[in-house]
Amino acid sequence: MRTKARTTSPLTELERKQERSPVPKDWTYAPAPEARDIVSLRERYGHFIGGEWIEPAETYTTISPADEEPLAEVGQATPEEVAAAVTAARDAFENGWSEISPAERAKYLFRIARVLQERSREFAVLESLNGGKPIKESRDVDLPLSAAHFFYYAGWADKLEYAFPNRRPRPLGVAGQIIPWNFPLLMLAWKIAPALAAGNTVVLKPAETTPLSALLFCDVVRQAELPAGVVNIVTGDGRTGVEIVKSDDVDKVAFTGSTEVGKAIQRELAGSGKKLTLELGGKAANIIFDDAALDQAVEGIINGIYFNQGHVCCAGSRLLVQESIYEPVVEKLKRRLTTLRVGDPLDKNTDVGAINSKQQLEKIEELVSAGAEEGAEIYQPPCRLPEKGYWFAPTVFTNVAQSYRIAQEEIFGPVLSILTFRTPEEAVEKANNTPYGLSAGVWTEKGSRILWMAERLRAGVVWANTYNRFDPSSPFGGYKESGFGREGGRHGLEPYLQFDGSEPFGG
Ligand code: NDP
Repeated sequence: MRTKARTTSPLTELERKQERSPVPKDWTYAPAPEARDIVSLRERYGHFIGGEWIEPAETYTTISPADEEPLAEVGQATPEEVAAAVTAARDAFENGWSEISPAERAKYLFRIARVLQERSREFAVLESLNGGKPIKESRDVDLPLSAAHFFYYAGWADKLEYAFPNRRPRPLGVAGQIIPWNFPLLMLAWKIAPALAAGNTVVLKPAETTPLSALLFCDVVRQAELPAGVVNIVTGDGRTGVEIVKSDDVDKVAFTGSTEVGKAIQRELAGSGKKLTLELGGKAANIIFDDAALDQAVEGIINGIYFNQGHVCCAGSRLLVQESIYEPVVEKLKRRLTTLRVGDPLDKNTDVGAINSKQQLEKIEELVSAGAEEGAEIYQPPCRLPEKGYWFAPTVFTNVAQSYRIAQEEIFGPVLSILTFRTPEEAVEKANNTPYGLSAGVWTEKGSRILWMAERLRAGVVWANTYNRFDPSSPFGGYKESGFGREGGRHGLEPYLQFDGSEPFGG
C-alpha cells in the first residue's frame, strides 16, 4: 500500500517526467530568443515634421550591428528639411502649444508615458535590433526609465511656479536636440520630456546608427494626439546636427555625445545668446576600498563597465583598487568574466551584446592595441564571438600606468583598466586626474569615508556601493570636459525655461 501511495505522489510524477526528458549534456544555457515579429518595420522612413511623414530627398540604410542585416532606409535630412522642421516647431509653439494650460500639457506627457509602457516590448526589441544592446537591458532599463521620465516631467508641467518660486518661468520656444546612439530612446526621453513640460516645442535628431526607436516614437506622439509640430524628428548624420545647431530659429540646443563635437557646438553658439547644455564623455573611477564587500563590489565593477557593452558615458572604466586587496579582486573579477555571455542581443540570456557600429569597433580595437603596446597586460575570457556583425570580448587590463591612453581616453567599449592606490588621498588624486568629471563609484563599508570621498571627487554623480543607478528625479551631468547643465530632476527643467522674476529661491 505504502509503495503505491508513493508512486502517485506529485514528486514521483515529477521524477518520472524527468526520466523521460533528455538529460542535459552540459550546463550551457539553451538560447532564449525574444520574438522579433512584434516589430514591424517599414522599408523606408521619412522625417516627422508638423505631424506628417515627409518623403526624404536623400536616404541611407540603417542596419543591425549584430549581423549587419539592413533594416530600413532612413532619411538623411538636408538643410531645407531641417529648416522645415524648425518652422513647424515654431508654428506649433506660437499657435497653441505655448498657450494651452500647463495641466493640459501634463496630460499629453502622461499619455506618452502610458503608451510607452503599453508598447514597451515592441520598443525594447527594436532598440536591441538597431543598437545591439542585450534585450534584458532594453527591456529592464531603457524602456522603464524612458516611461518614468515622461511620468516624472508630466508631474512638473503644472507646477513650474513651485519649482522656481518668484521667478515667473516661461518656455524658451524651439529646442534643437541632438542625441547619441548608446541609449537612443532613453536619451530622447531625457531631452523631450523636460522640454515639453516646460512648454517648448522640439526638433530632435537621433544618431545616424540608431534612428529607428525615435521614428517609432513618432507613432506614440500621434497616438497621444500631441498637437502637430510640437515634436519633430529629423534623421541623418552629423551634417543634420550641424544644421540644427546653426538654425537661427532654434532658441536652445541640447546635446549629448562626444566632447569633440560638444566643443564644436559651443564654439558655433558662442555669442549667439542661445541656451546650451552639453552632456559629454567620461572616464569614471570606480574605487574599491579594502573594507568593501568584495563580491558585491565585483558585481558593481561588472555592471559599471560591461553594461551596454561599455557604451555608457558614465561607465566605470578605470578601476581603482586598494593595493591590499588587489589580488583577490582581480581573481574574482576574472572568474566572473568567464560567466558573461556575449552574443545575440535578442537572446534573453545575453549579458554583452554587439558593438554599436563598425566605426566604434575600430576605435575600441585601436585603443586596446595601444594599451597592449604601452605595456599593460590584457585579459579576455574565453568566448566565441559571432562571425558576422561587430563584436568585442569583455576585456580587462592590469599593469596600467596613469599615463597610458587606456587610462586617459574614453574607450566607450567593454574594456576595463585596473590601477591601484594605497590611501584615500591617493585614490582621490588618481580619480580626479582626468579631463572628465561625469561620475565615480566608491565601495566601502564606512559611511564617513563615502562622504569624505564624495566631497573630494570632481564628478557630477558619485555612486556609493552601487553603480549605474538612474532615476528621473535625480539630476545628472558633468564637470570639466564632461559638459555642463543637468538633466533629470527639477534641475533638468531650468535649461528649458527663461525667467522674469527675481533670483532663484533656494538655488
Ligand atoms: P558624436 O558626438 O559624433 O555624436 C553624437 C550626436 O551628434 C550624433 O547624433 C551625431 O550624429 C551628432 N553630430 C555629429 N557631429 C555633429 C556636429 N558637428 N554638429 C552637431 N551634431 C553632430 O559621437 P560619435 O557617435 O561619433 O561617437 C564618438 C565618440 O564619442 C565615442 O567613441 C564616445 O567616446 C563618445 N560618445 C559619448 C557619448 C556620451 O554619452 N557621452 C555618446 C556617444 C559617443 P551622427 O550620429 O551622424 O554621428
